[in-house]
Amino acid sequence: MEFRDLFVILGSFQNVLNFFVSHKLLASCQQCSRCGSNMELTETTRVNDGYMWRCTNKRCRTWLSRRSGSFFKGSNIPLSTWLHLMFLWAMQISGSKIARLTSLSKPTVIHALSELRTICSNKVLNAGIKLGGLGNTVEIDESKFGAKRKYKRGRVSAGPWVFGVVERGS
Ligand SMILES: [Zn+2]
Repeated sequence: MEFRDLFVILGSFQNVLNFFVSHKLLASCQQCSRCGSNMELTETTRVNDGYMWRCTNKRCRTWLSRRSGSFFKGSNIPLSTWLHLMFLWAMQISGSKIARLTSLSKPTVIHALSELRTICSNKVLNAGIKLGGLGNTVEIDESKFGAKRKYKRGRVSAGPWVFGVVERGS
């Protein structure tokens, strides 16, 4: 993903959602845990994300967070800001600069970056891949290492969506 692509995606919230779905960081479908029916994405002002899953069974109509089962679950950072943050992080921008550029507080950024580091596989981090730099393309790519975020440790097991960041071309 190049810088201009980031701006295009950030221009529309729907694009941000589509980006995370296509990179398997957000679920593309959900089933109701109460009745087993399919859920549909429903626009709502109840959450900043603008959408929640809702059970299609008229007698159930259970709501579920758009972020359910994803890396973003439990985070208050808007999804578009997450994408911005991930991009800057992949470009090796410092935490304090990321805080300035995303208008997040420094502690929030530090926490977010530690979450990102935790879920990124050692394989990616230890490969010595240098990311970003002027004229280079940074690609945010999903992989299925399945570290469990809720334990705040890099446990490798079947679990929610995880991604790695790789550089392509230069
Ligand atoms: Zn239901």
